[in-house]
Amino acid sequence: MVDQTLLIFKPEVLRRGFAGRLISRFEDRGIKIVQLKLTTIDAPTARIHYAEHQSKPFFAGLVEYITSGPVVVAVLECEGVIPLVRRMVGPTNPANAEAGSIRGDFAFSVAENVIHASDSPESAAREISLFFNG
Ligand code: UDP
Ligand code: MG
Repeated sequence: MVDQTLLIFKPEVLRRGFAGRLISRFEDRGIKIVQLKLTTIDAPTARIHYAEHQSKPFFAGLVEYITSGPVVVAVLECEGVIPLVRRMVGPTNPANAEAGSIRGDFAFSVAENVIHASDSPESAAREISLFFNG
C-alpha cells in the first residue's frame, strides 16, 4: 500500500480563509488527496488524537483550540508522504520555520501553527482510523 498521512487544517485556516491555498500546495507537489472533509472536532476525539501530549502543560489549551471551530481533515497519499509533508509543513514553532514552508508562510505562534501532519506510519494509521473509520 502506498504511504498515507493525515492532515488537519487547524481552525485559523477556515477563520482566515486559506484552505484552498494549502490544498493547492499539496496538489502542486503532485501528492494525491484520497480523503477530504470539513468537520468540527469534539473534545473526546481531540484528547485521543493528541493523547501523546496529555501530560504537557499546553494540553488543555491545545484541546480547547483544536475544537474551537471547523477544520479540514484530509488523507494524502504518495511514496514517502509522511516526511515529505512534514518538510512542507515546517517545524512545530513557526519562529523556526523557513519561508516557503507552510508554517513559515502562514503562522507565527506555536499554539496556532496552522496545520497538523502525522509524524510516523504508526501515528498516520491511528489518526486515519480515528477520523475516517477505515
Ligand atoms: N504545542 C503547543 N505548545 C508547545 C508545543 C506544542 O501549543 O510548546 C501544540 C502545537 O499546536 C503543536 C501541537 O501542540 O502543533 C502538537 O505538538 P507536536 O510536538 O506534536 O508538534 P507537531 O507534530 O504539530 O509539529
Ligand atoms: Mg505531532
